Amino acid sequence: MVPGARLVLLGKQGAGKGTQCTRLALHYIVPHISTGDIFRAAVRAGTEFGKKAREYMDAGELVPDEVVIGVVKERLDQDDTKTRGFVLDGFPRTVHQADALDTVLAPRGLDLAIDLEVDTTVVLQRLASRRVCVNCGANYSVDSPPKVNWTCDICGNEVIQRADDTEGAIKRRLDLYEEQTAPLIAWYLERDKLVAVNGEGHPDTVTNRLIRAIDHRREPQG
Ligand code: AMP
Repeated sequence: MVPGARLVLLGKQGAGKGTQCTRLALHYIVPHISTGDIFRAAVRAGTEFGKKAREYMDAGELVPDEVVIGVVKERLDQDDTKTRGFVLDGFPRTVHQADALDTVLAPRGLDLAIDLEVDTTVVLQRLASRRVCVNCGANYSVDSPPKVNWTCDICGNEVIQRADDTEGAIKRRLDLYEEQTAPLIAWYLERDKLVAVNGEGHPDTVTNRLIRAIDHRREPQG
C-alpha cells in the first residue's frame, strides 16, 4: 500500500461522508478534516467566527468561500497533514474551493476525489433519522441509536438532531449541492482524479468498496 493518502470525499448531504471519512482516516492513518465539524466546534465554543458561521449553517447556506478556504489552508499547513496526508470531508464544495485546494497542494496535488453515490430518496430518509453527538460528531440514527439513552458510545455526550437537519435547510443544502458541488465531479474527472463508488448498503460494505477503489487507483502501475 502507498503510505499516507490525500483524499477528498464528495457526495450529497447524508451520503455517509462523515462515517466513511472517519473509517478511511483510521485505515490510511491520516487526519480526517471536516469543515462542518470545524464550524460546529466554533459554534459550540461561542467565538465570533462561530456565531457568523452559525447563521449560514442553520439556514443551510454555504459559508463564504474565502472563509472556508482560509480555515482549510491553515489546517493543511500543519505537520501531520504535510507528512501523512488527509481525508477531506465537506471540502471542496465549489469550483472556487477546488481551485484553491489545487494551488495549496501543488506540486504533488491530490491523490483522488471520490464521489460517494447515493440516491436522493435514500439521503432524505437518512437525514430525517440522523442524530449526532454534540461533542465528537459521531453519527447515529433513529434506527441505530447509541447503546445508552442517547448518550454517545464514544465520548458520553448528548446525541441530538442537527440544527440544520430540518426540512427547509435540508432542501436548501441539496439544491446547493446540485448547483455548486455536483459540477466538481466533472471538474475532477477532467483532471483524471475522480473515482465513483456506490454509497448504498451496509456501512462496512461501503468502506470495503472505498478501500478497494482507492487502493486500485493508487497502486503504482507497471
Ligand atoms: P456538513 O457537516 O459538511 O454538512 O457542513 C455543515 C454546514 O457547514 C454546511 O451546510 C455549510 O453551511 C457549512 N460548510 C461546511 N463545509 C463547507 C464548505 N466547504 N463551504 C461552505 N460551507 C461549508
